Amino acid sequence: MQHYPVFLDMTQARVVIGGGGEIALAKLRLLLKTDAKITLCAPGFAPEIEAHRPRVTLVRRPLLGCDLHGARLVYAATGDATEDARIAALGRKSGALVNVVDNLDASDFLTPAIVDRAPVVVAIGTEGAAPVLARKIKAHLEEVLPASLGILTRIGKGFRAMAEHLPQGTRRRAFWAEYYDTAGPRALEQGGEKQVEQALDALLARHLRAAPPEGHVDFVSAGPGDPELLTLKARKLIDRADVVIYDRLVSPEILELARREAVMISVGKEGFGPSTPQSEIHRLMIHHAQTGAHVVRLKGGDASVFGRLDEETDALDTARIRWQVIPGVTSASSAAASIGQSLTRRGRNQSLRLVTAHDMQGYADQDWRALAAPGAITAVYMGKRAARFVQGRLLMHGASPETPVTLVENASRADQQIVPTTLAHLPRQAAALAGPAIILLGLAPRATEQSFELQEQAL
Ligand code: SAH
Repeated sequence: MQHYPVFLDMTQARVVIGGGGEIALAKLRLLLKTDAKITLCAPGFAPEIEAHRPRVTLVRRPLLGCDLHGARLVYAATGDATEDARIAALGRKSGALVNVVDNLDASDFLTPAIVDRAPVVVAIGTEGAAPVLARKIKAHLEEVLPASLGILTRIGKGFRAMAEHLPQGTRRRAFWAEYYDTAGPRALEQGGEKQVEQALDALLARHLRAAPPEGHVDFVSAGPGDPELLTLKARKLIDRADVVIYDRLVSPEILELARREAVMISVGKEGFGPSTPQSEIHRLMIHHAQTGAHVVRLKGGDASVFGRLDEETDALDTARIRWQVIPGVTSASSAAASIGQSLTRRGRNQSLRLVTAHDMQGYADQDWRALAAPGAITAVYMGKRAARFVQGRLLMHGASPETPVTLVENASRADQQIVPTTLAHLPRQAAALAGPAIILLGLAPRATEQSFELQEQAL
């Protein structure tokens, strides 16, 4: 992010525009929505600009340094590159922030595309990379944000002190959510602003009478990383959470979806890396749920696959805290999808194994004979460091060194890597990977497999 978005208080701020034509007018239109003190300097002015006197001050000559005293923003909007550069230099000298219209490199700030439902204002910026996209997003938002939003927000703002009678957190949020989602729009439609005020009073009285919410824990599957692989339910619950307790494998893009006020707690669990003791995770979940919070326990992939889910649900049962599990996409599914393969196939494998290469005691024991059988498909979790052990056991139980194996690192993420190999080369290839990886034993990427088949036909 090269440009940092902020909302600037323009009450009584001085803004100076160098220019008097169409380009200056375009900037002026937006600035007129604020309370800024606006001055334009140019040898002549378009009639639409003249019409805004005395709200704006017009200086009938080119901009000079003395015009910029105390200016917070300066727009160079003459349309003449040399003149704009001169104005920009003067602006900077005076300590103001400068925008040279249509010249990103020469500007200190950009004016974003705006959806105005004041006091709700949505600013859209693409850092100059895609103005067309910004306009598209704006058009979309114009459609989805009702025109009444501004009125409801204005009335709601006046009611904030009253709403503080509700305890901060879940209860106050539930009140506001009901106001903006249903009660507010309905009252406005039925009886205008007066009715909205009455509706707010009634709504507050009802929420004050309601029993305090019971804390609970949702075990939410975050999937392998791509936020688009979240279920709708997961998305909704992350959106509402007061507290999010997450593992290290949950991707940053997914954590971004939580509310900014949500308490985010990393319990950094990953394979051999440093991790929070399980008892501490239990303590955190119980503590926050007991204060009435909606806790989301966010786990990578599917929460029920190698996620120590039962230990956590048992702890909640003992503490008599309500919980539910939201299923999701496990990394083996994502890895198989990325290589265009099915995890089961008629005539090849009627069963599929999800195994872990290590458990609490060390390397995990498996039914190696079954895993080594021709056509067997196994997804190995947490298998990078145990790759040599897995390879040794499989060869010992009769697997061919030519058995296809595919490693999928960072499945579904932007930096996903697919490494097709064979059992003979598995340890070397696994050692080269840095991120989380699934080992698919018995599967080659579809394209590779087809080319093997073609080679065989040719022989
Ligand atoms: N519950 C998770 C698994 C947790 S165990 C799931 O259903 O996927 C952690 C292991 O999962 C890692 O060691 C790695 O083998 C695998 N894993 C998790 N995220 C992954 C990803 N994006 N790509 C590949 N493997 C991943």
